[in-house]
Amino acid sequence: TSNVTTKRDEGPVLPGVKNIIAVSSGKGGVGKSTIAANLAVALARSGADVGLIDADIYGPSIPTMFNCEFEQPGIVQEDGKNKIVPIQQYGVKLISIGLLTNSEDAVVWRGPMASSALRQFISDAKWGELDYLVIDLPPGTSDIHLTLVQAVPVTGAVVVTTPQKVALADAQKGISMFKQPQINVPILGLVENMSWFTPEELPDNKYYIFGEGGGQKLAEKNEVELLGQIPIVQTIRESGDSGYPAAMKDGELSDAFMRLAENVAR
Ligand code: ADP
Repeated sequence: TSNVTTKRDEGPVLPGVKNIIAVSSGKGGVGKSTIAANLAVALARSGADVGLIDADIYGPSIPTMFNCEFEQPGIVQEDGKNKIVPIQQYGVKLISIGLLTNSEDAVVWRGPMASSALRQFISDAKWGELDYLVIDLPPGTSDIHLTLVQAVPVTGAVVVTTPQKVALADAQKGISMFKQPQINVPILGLVENMSWFTPEELPDNKYYIFGEGGGQKLAEKNEVELLGQIPIVQTIRESGDSGYPAAMKDGELSDAFMRLAENVAR
């Protein structure tokens, strides 16, 4: 166990779980799941006890990113109740909506169903002692997201965006959603993903393919922290597809994810 403390004053959000961190994005495809997966791995590598829930009903991609698509979480009886046993991979305990349904069913799930599934994942799973329970939320700010966010005692939210104008506009909506009085989830900060591209043969060049400085500006406007900038790197995509997160490999990239984890944990 580590000496991580809870970020909400009222004490632990669940017996044994100190912090619930929601990872969200306004827009799909900006790398929310990639950031959630690598953040979870980086927090675990830093010595924390970490769980990860994939609640992205539209595209549960965590099982692929963790190379456990064909594993099923176990069920055990405890005090006369069924308890879900999370899968363990790369030092992270994880449960995905995608592991319990086939992905074609998952897209037609409505908010109340998704939120009761999420609540069960949180309260009826054998998480044990966790410093961080990271939740990969679906993208967007529809009713489903409101229901999901309200279902869970979230400690803080991490909003992922690319520096592109349309992504930033949607990230702003995400930030505003968390700030609504009936939601009132503290925003831990913003992550700018796909910030720049550096070709191997021109290692000193940064190409700002989706624009430059957008994440910083949005963070300043909302008085939240820019927790990290992650470049576009082929190995991030390859690591996601091959089921071995980039944060597992030592080097510049995992350093970037370790710094992100440090900033989230602060
Ligand atoms: P979202 O969860 O926002 O829909 P994903 O995390 O599934 O997005 O990412 C979408 C695609 O982009 C995936 O194929 C992923 O591997 C890739 N990707 C995400 N971030 C990066 C990055 N920084 N560099 C390269 N590819 C990335």
